[in-house]
Amino acid sequence: MAINFNGAPWGGINQAAQQRRAKDPRHPLVYRIEFAAIGWANNVGHSRFDGLPLAQILADGKGNQPNRQSIDKAIRKAKELGLIVPESNARCLVVSPRAFQRGGRGTYTCNVHGVSRGLRPAN
Ligand SMILES: [Zn+2]
Repeated sequence: MAINFNGAPWGGINQAAQQRRAKDPRHPLVYRIEFAAIGWANNVGHSRFDGLPLAQILADGKGNQPNRQSIDKAIRKAKELGLIVPESNARCLVVSPRAFQRGGRGTYTCNVHGVSRGLRPAN
């Protein structure tokens, strides 16, 4: 799918670097949610954590995972800040196509949200 931000300037992003940031406990949890959403986003902006639970990604430096309540709170805050879209949840974070688009190789589906391959609107 062609990347189209309605004429706005854009550049590529290293998703592996975003994944590393998501796992970096020095960042506030709310931003780690956004890093995870972008780092694992597929071609329709839905994250696939490759079998890795979000709690594991968000572990602290000692490997302690945040509890469900902390994760849900951070997801709510990320939604309030517009970092992820409202249908996001702990199993699949979703980024807006206004912020992130991806083409080329990759998947266009989401089992969590029941998205089957289809064209995604440009914004
Ligand atoms: Zn999804």
